Amino acid sequence: MSKTIFSKIISREIPANIVFENDQILAFHDINPKAPVHILIIPKEEIETVRQIDGSKHAGLLGAMIDAANQIAKEQNIYEDGFRLVFNCGENGGQEVYHLHLHLLGGRAMKWPPG
Ligand code: 5GP
Repeated sequence: MSKTIFSKIISREIPANIVFENDQILAFHDINPKAPVHILIIPKEEIETVRQIDGSKHAGLLGAMIDAANQIAKEQNIYEDGFRLVFNCGENGGQEVYHLHLHLLGGRAMKWPPG
């Protein structure tokens, strides 16, 4: 499979505004933000979609992604007011980039249901 844009961000072939990194995870501002704060939290491991997640294998990674989201939300001053975390999965889920990513959205009141 060809490299996704997010793999190229991990390998620094493509620039991004990175806000968080550790050995498992990278997080950076979305290039086309849908809210005043819109950050993408991705695993460095290449996982295409939520469908490839196996709870017994990936529980630690998912927990680390949530920990990162909480830390970034504090740093971006959206923690107390609240925020939204979203995984889009597959065509009907609206997924465009097939490298697992958690959207962190905040800085305004979110609508429900989503479009
Ligand atoms: P999806 O629709 O797959 O859940 O979300 C993909 C997200 O990646 C979109 O919100 C889109 O704006 C963002 N995106 C696409 N290409 C790039 C890029 O090259 N750099 C960054 N920072 N974000 C991107």
